[in-house]
Amino acid sequence: MKEIEASVLSIIPSGCELAKVEVEGPQVVIYLKNVKAFYEDENLITKIASKLRKKVLVRGDVSILQPQEKALAIIKEIVPPEAGVKDVRFDPNFHEVLIEAAKPGLVIGKGGSVLKMIILQTGWSPKVLRVPTMPSETITAVRSALLSQSEQRKKFLLQLGKKLYTPGKPTEWVKITGLGGFREIGRSCLLLQTPSSNVLLDCGLNVDPSDPSKAYPYLNATNLELDQIDAVILSHAHLDHSGFIPYLYAYGYEGPVYCTPPTRDMMVLLQQDCINVMNSEGGKAPYSERDIKKELTHVITREYGEVTDVTSDVRFTFHNAGHMVGSAMIHLHIGEGLHNLIYSGDIKFGKTRVCDSASTVFPRAETFLLESTYGGRQDVKPRIEETEAKFCDMVRQTVDKGGKVLVPVIASGRAQEIMCVLEEYFKEPNFTVYIDGMSKEASAVHTAYPEYLRRTLQRRILQNDSPFEKPMFKTVQNSEHRKQIAESDEACVIVAPSGMLNGGPSLQFLKLLAHDAKNLLILVSYQSSMTIGRKLQQGDREIPIVDERATKQETLKVNMSVQSMEGFSGHSDRSQLLNFIRSVRPKPMRVLTMHGDNGKCEDLARTINKMLHVETRVPMNLDSTRLK
Ligand code: ZN
Repeated sequence: MKEIEASVLSIIPSGCELAKVEVEGPQVVIYLKNVKAFYEDENLITKIASKLRKKVLVRGDVSILQPQEKALAIIKEIVPPEAGVKDVRFDPNFHEVLIEAAKPGLVIGKGGSVLKMIILQTGWSPKVLRVPTMPSETITAVRSALLSQSEQRKKFLLQLGKKLYTPGKPTEWVKITGLGGFREIGRSCLLLQTPSSNVLLDCGLNVDPSDPSKAYPYLNATNLELDQIDAVILSHAHLDHSGFIPYLYAYGYEGPVYCTPPTRDMMVLLQQDCINVMNSEGGKAPYSERDIKKELTHVITREYGEVTDVTSDVRFTFHNAGHMVGSAMIHLHIGEGLHNLIYSGDIKFGKTRVCDSASTVFPRAETFLLESTYGGRQDVKPRIEETEAKFCDMVRQTVDKGGKVLVPVIASGRAQEIMCVLEEYFKEPNFTVYIDGMSKEASAVHTAYPEYLRRTLQRRILQNDSPFEKPMFKTVQNSEHRKQIAESDEACVIVAPSGMLNGGPSLQFLKLLAHDAKNLLILVSYQSSMTIGRKLQQGDREIPIVDERATKQETLKVNMSVQSMEGFSGHSDRSQLLNFIRSVRPKPMRVLTMHGDNGKCEDLARTINKMLHVETRVPMNLDSTRLK
């Protein structure tokens, strides 16, 4: 602490009247009595940040904070009314004022000019949050929870800051151990270790309940207590990557979860839904709402490209993965340049309607861990344009003859992709598209983070022309409404989670629609083995299911048509994966494959070895690989 203070003092002019320096987790905060003097030199903050090699924030000392009422009046005067400010709230623990606005750009001002005026005139550091264009319970709940737990968050961040500044042992070795998601899909979890670090990358669960022994990652095989884990770094919000994190908090983990801001909100939404689904289907979720709350207190968000210290010898940076809103690859810089590891998470190297394609340029890359969902020899998918046209043709034919189309989707990602396609192809259709379950809420979260979306979608949301809000989309209210829709004569399309029909609204709709040959089921995402989706994909038309109260087995006769299209995937197909790894700069020295069925991981590794002449490996769960 003394050292940091001395560094700050050596740069900062005395006129700024430095009151104190705090280390809040990975960032350094300087409190000043004279903020105006600080802003006289525009490069000051960059100078301090590069000297400390940390993110640096400036806040007003408590003595210069205007009373909240007065500060509010000043803010109302400074911020132009066109900014559409919805809410202004003060967070005294962080000396911050949170301004929620429809047009954050106008609260920021040119080159940050409006923000600067706010801190100069009120003493409070402004933090601007975008109001989603659709009302979102998740965003409201997350923002309120963060504010109401701000005292605990402050305490946690200060403690973490102290820990991060404790010198570690020399980095003599680096190793990784697969705890889940190796030679399989589901429960992704990787343990990265050095003599002074234990870091988890992802901590998911297998949502496919067919084999309970494979539901959770092998945390208990590590000989580590949960409180020995230093950090969890999360690639994206899907439950097979994030679904087990609240469990860590339920059983003693007290460290941070690093993720992008949209991943935080989407993760909370999906975990909450996971609890509801598990508990309602006769099972028991491995954690409760309280644990999600605790997790939220410990989340530290980072944007793409921000370098962040995780421990004394591990630092990471997120890079766009193109897979869903906020999804990231994780670049790890270990032991001051000793080793660089990239963990792909799930990636899409190719066009989708929601996200930009995955990035390929990294500062350094020795080892690359690459997903292999569609890495098998057979996994070459048709072009997205063909897939979309074929999908819309099938929809048209079915609705024209008065049938209903059921499209099971993952609530976040595929649902929005399908909505964008339908909206573009049908413009003002003579049928309704019903949006069920969490899909609507997930769409709303998208509208709060347009900067994480593909340019065309981003522009539409910013211009208040979000495709998700078109009148053709209607929300399904409850199971009674589901019955009404199914029993009516109306031709329609239903977009409903879960994507593999292993529970949730899509399964309820399947039960209601399966008898009628006029109806059509279109499977648009990956179907893992043993799921109802996979059975239907394979041609089974008599599906064993449990009744509504989960008390007895029944057989569901499926007369409706079933079509399967994988071109919509948020994952890269085989040729995209190969193109991707070929494009990665610098070229990695070693590629390890993961997140795919056994044969696919092997297939992909073999081809990459031949193509790039680099070492490849296909680790199993619990295999450890020494990287250095
Ligand atoms: Zn995913």
